[in-house]
Amino acid sequence: MLESKAKPSFALPELPYEENALEPVISARTLSFHHGKHHAGYVTMLNELVEDSPYAGRPLDEVVKRAAGDPAAKMVFNNAAQALNHDFYWRSMRPRGGGTPSAALKDTIERDFGGLAEFRTAFTKAAAGVFGSGWTWLVVGKDGTLKIATTDDADTPIVRGERPLLVIDVWEHAYYLDYQNRRPDYVAAWLENLVNWDFAAKNFGSA
Ligand code: MN
Repeated sequence: MLESKAKPSFALPELPYEENALEPVISARTLSFHHGKHHAGYVTMLNELVEDSPYAGRPLDEVVKRAAGDPAAKMVFNNAAQALNHDFYWRSMRPRGGGTPSAALKDTIERDFGGLAEFRTAFTKAAAGVFGSGWTWLVVGKDGTLKIATTDDADTPIVRGERPLLVIDVWEHAYYLDYQNRRPDYVAAWLENLVNWDFAAKNFGSA
């Protein structure tokens, strides 16, 4: 019997670089599992959950915001937010990243954190302090100032009207093969060598 099957609502975005491009800070083995198994798993699960629901065919950020306010859609929220957060995380990194942000963003970091070194210290401390699984973000808060935000599990600042500039994944699957329990070392190496300030500047609106 012929069965017509609608195209899945969501697709796994490709990594913006090769799996080995972030070595030695993040190994190809970590990226392979993280993108090919974890991120892919959220997308597959989300497609199953939204099939024949009002969420099917809607933009991913809209699904996240709408499901956040729907207690019956907790699984949809978790998988949609994880799909969105991972896409944002891949783009928050680049090979040979690090360095300093462009002038407008750097000036604002100095205004709101006291300096780039102070920002790095506060960001690393916040990321180290996430209890269990979660994320650490640089966001533009609702008052227009830059803030560091931490979220648990799949949670994401966009549901609170904050605008993310960067994110680091601090779930153990992001770093355990390379750093075991040394999460602060992963965060420090990430800021030093991988953080994509051009992506942050673009999100800030100053690129
Ligand atoms: Mn992850």
